[in-house]
Amino acid sequence: MLNDQLLNPKSIVIVGGSEDISKPGGKVLKNIKDGGYSGLLSVINPKADKVQNVKSYRNIEDIGDTDLAILAIAAKYCLAVVEFLARNRNTKAFIILSAGFSEESEEGAILEKEIVNVINETGGCLIGPNCIGFLNPKYSGVFTSLLHKPVNEGVDFISGSGATAVYIMESGIPKGLKFRNVFSVGNSAQNGVEDILKYMDENFDATRDSKVKLLYIESIRKPEMLLRHATSLTRKGCRIAAIKAGSSEAGSRAASSHTGALASSDSAVEALLKKAGIVRCHSREELTTVASIFMYELPEGKNIAVITHAGGPAVMLTDALSEGGLNVPQIQGSDADALLAKLYPGSSVSNPIDFLATGTAEQLGLIIDACNNEFQNIDAMVVIFGSPGLFKVFDVYDLLDQKMKSSIKPIYPILPSIISANEEIEAFLKKDRTYFSDEVLFGNGLTRIMNTPFPVEDFNESIKIDSVKVGEVIRNSKNGFLSPVEVSEILDASFIPRIKEGVANTIEEALIIPEIIDFPLVMKVIGPVHKSDVGGVELNVMTKEEILFHFERMMQIDGSTGVLFQPMASGLELFAGIKEEGDFGHLILCGLGGIFIEVLKDFSIGLVPINKKEAKGMISGLRSYKLIEGVRGQPGVDENVFVNILLRLSALIQIAPEIVELDLNPLLGAEDKIFAVDARIRVEKSN
Ligand code: ADP
Ligand code: MG
Repeated sequence: MLNDQLLNPKSIVIVGGSEDISKPGGKVLKNIKDGGYSGLLSVINPKADKVQNVKSYRNIEDIGDTDLAILAIAAKYCLAVVEFLARNRNTKAFIILSAGFSEESEEGAILEKEIVNVINETGGCLIGPNCIGFLNPKYSGVFTSLLHKPVNEGVDFISGSGATAVYIMESGIPKGLKFRNVFSVGNSAQNGVEDILKYMDENFDATRDSKVKLLYIESIRKPEMLLRHATSLTRKGCRIAAIKAGSSEAGSRAASSHTGALASSDSAVEALLKKAGIVRCHSREELTTVASIFMYELPEGKNIAVITHAGGPAVMLTDALSEGGLNVPQIQGSDADALLAKLYPGSSVSNPIDFLATGTAEQLGLIIDACNNEFQNIDAMVVIFGSPGLFKVFDVYDLLDQKMKSSIKPIYPILPSIISANEEIEAFLKKDRTYFSDEVLFGNGLTRIMNTPFPVEDFNESIKIDSVKVGEVIRNSKNGFLSPVEVSEILDASFIPRIKEGVANTIEEALIIPEIIDFPLVMKVIGPVHKSDVGGVELNVMTKEEILFHFERMMQIDGSTGVLFQPMASGLELFAGIKEEGDFGHLILCGLGGIFIEVLKDFSIGLVPINKKEAKGMISGLRSYKLIEGVRGQPGVDENVFVNILLRLSALIQIAPEIVELDLNPLLGAEDKIFAVDARIRVEKSN
């Protein structure tokens, strides 16, 4: 838990404060002084009475009550200092810069734990250890170079890595991005990224707090906490973007089902961030571009006007926007003609709107006004304007700033001439603006934001399944794959349609199957998990002789206990599945069967529980979605029936979380009916 003593300390002591600013204890002291901290600053250093002109106590016992202690001493001395200050000097906030704790050794981990215990017992808060510190507009408690002074209008940033935090700030500051609270959580001994987000959510005040939160996450230790508070903050009007580096620790377990194999170690992270409404980024530049876009309003629709005096970037931007699902719609009609008449000959207004290298500030103003007032099919504008090399562009950027202030529709500035127009860009940034130097980075960032769904409302879908029956089957089952009978019982109790089936264990039983299932039929070995791989699936069986032949053959297959019979069906092959993913809960996957998953890896992932909107989004987000809709005379399948199956799976898992893997592969879909022809379910009750 964070507290006021950390965020707004009346007094700070630097334990290990030093004259040498090439050491953390010297640098953090200098930063706090340079940052203009207005409270009481002191140092504990046994060798001096003054350090960098700040009062230093040789003996810790001589210091009075202090809100915040920043420790820059060897790990082995930290516990005693924390004990003394927490218990005797009412110190309620600690930042431990020192390394040598759980990241280094077993003993370090024990020491770290003891420190946390003391701080917890005394109701304090801890940032670190092994971090670069914390900074906000009140004080700069970091030992790295001060890149800029945090301001109240800046974004909040929580980083799992100290060095990366600095590099991310270095990527953002030239874009005009400003920071407010910057946390480097180090070993996250008491406060990790999730805990800080929780604090921000629980104490959120829309009139005071930053509405943009950036995260750099190395490992998601508390997925539930992250999901809950990111969702809540987003609903309160915040926008969150995150880089999650590396793959999740939960994902490395071996999986025997198809769904299990598909869900990579990163799937859970992807699903979680999506569900929370967090815009996922994969590089520093991408993160700070998204953050810079967050500083402006977002378009209300997907239609963008690209306004430029240079053709190339406009084309590249148009490509990036289109690829991400946004439109650069044609602009035409009498209003367009009227605008064109006011521009230099050779200009074009059909979108991209190109007003040539000689285009003026006044013309830019006319174009922006027309987009705002006349062109109804435009939701936002991107202005690409560099230096044409002929004249200074101060007037253009001033006008751009004016128009951005009064514009009804958002305007995003792409200013590519970072060398030849650097003075003009500097002047533009001084007006508290962010800008973009690269149109494609901007275009990708904007589409990433627009394609991240808003977190869904928590409403319970009224999906009824027979929970008593499900509970009974699970209770009576053994760990591992359920038998075909148990699988059928679970599907029936969940009202998930499945194909008609018959089972034969003897030749006699096999030969009377045609009385209940018409030819052509399908025979499948019972026992092996992957039946086709062992020659255990025979399609289009037409005669009793074939039944006899394949029955004898299948009974010889290793692990075979009997043979399953089904009618031969046709339709579009779909799949749906579930995979348990440690602390993340259960993932739900869906897609088309066959080559679409095998080769094209075209599938969608959600985090259970899902609601109707998410289920629909999962299906419509498939690249092969057109096949579900029906294409070129090929009938599709009723999407609502598929949605319903996903919702039933989600409901099933809420009742039976012991299901660790479930595969409906394939489901065969024919217009308004979809039914499972192959299903496996694995349970693990110790979980
Ligand atoms: P496995 O996945 O264990 O190899 P399946 O039961 O999924 O076995 O069968 C393999 C493939 O055979 C399916 O992907 C599907 O293409 C086809 N298939 C299975 N059952 C039927 C059926 N009843 N009607 C038509 N095709 C089927
Ligand atoms: Mg199968």
